Amino acid sequence: MLPHSLPPMIDPFGRSISYLRVSVTDRCDFRCVYCMSENMTFLPKGDLLSLEELDRLCSAFIRRGVRKLRLTGGEPLVRRDIMTLFRNLGRHLETGALEELTVTTNGSQLSRFAGDLAACGVRRINVSLDTLDAAKFRQITRWGALDKVLEGIDAAQRAGLKIKINAVALKDFNEDELLPMIRWAHGRDMDITFIEVMPLGEIDGQRVDQYLPLSEVRARLSQALTLEASSHRTGGPARYFRSVETGGQVGFITPLTHNFCESCNRVRLTCTGTLYMCLGQEDAADLRKPLRASESDDALMEAIDRAISRKPKGHDFIIDRTTKQPAVGRHMSVTGG
Ligand code: SAM
Ligand code: SF4
Repeated sequence: MLPHSLPPMIDPFGRSISYLRVSVTDRCDFRCVYCMSENMTFLPKGDLLSLEELDRLCSAFIRRGVRKLRLTGGEPLVRRDIMTLFRNLGRHLETGALEELTVTTNGSQLSRFAGDLAACGVRRINVSLDTLDAAKFRQITRWGALDKVLEGIDAAQRAGLKIKINAVALKDFNEDELLPMIRWAHGRDMDITFIEVMPLGEIDGQRVDQYLPLSEVRARLSQALTLEASSHRTGGPARYFRSVETGGQVGFITPLTHNFCESCNRVRLTCTGTLYMCLGQEDAADLRKPLRASESDDALMEAIDRAISRKPKGHDFIIDRTTKQPAVGRHMSVTGG
């Protein structure tokens, strides 16, 4: 234990919480069809925690044993002055209190920020990219431009950032592209992870029409590639396989076909200071109130303890034709992917 640290966060199932994901904004410059509806109502700006408050909350979690911190959103890199938060959080890397500071981004702003991220101590980033076809990219993101994201990836690699590509596997959309995307990613020394679509928030279409089980994807990929089960771990829920032919890792995040909850080490904080103990459950704790109530962190630490003591065993996701409502009403952009 570090000298200044407090007791670690252990949930009722004995899981130790060492990973915090923070959604720094619910806003985004894209409107991915599986994530958002076209006309989203976002939080009033006044409801958001300031960057200083986000820093104070993150720092409190680091004192309680968080070793890995991921900023996400919405699109984290569209929040004004977000580099100030990265820079300030970087101090915990320097002291060794924090092992890793990272970000999940759609890549649209990376050409601008890659150098700054590296300077703040960020070493690895996740870039979400579902297709390498410019027209399809526009279709799936509604507002995005593929060439900007590819420029961003170039800039990030030039800045020395290690990139993992995240792609949502979507039925009748990118099924045929998954193999070429593995070849592309591994050819550029990037690992790639596929994600099943999750029933989070109202969207314009039906999720059952988008859902592609990754068990099917893996079986199909195995006809072209030798996928060897790998012990590779990134602290996340992905199961990894090494592709012998292309030499990189292929991850599968299967919240629906495989329950990844047993080893869950994470909690998620929204930009309004609400703590979700599980991505797939409604229960949450308000940390903004204790944060603002006093300059001391005592009430905040108590609220964190109460929240962790309620962390549920797992989620209850299901996608089928009879379930019309999303399993969880809030969008992924609120809780942070
Ligand atoms: N805007 C950033 C991005 O796209 O990387 C960060 C936030 S985004 C919500 C994080 C990840 O969640 C992305 O990889 C996105 O593809 C994924 N995602 C969003 N909605 C999803 C859903 N309903 N099911 C599965 N993945 C989803
Ligand atoms: Fe924005 Fe990311 Fe959601 Fe796409 S997945 S709309 S980029 S938050």
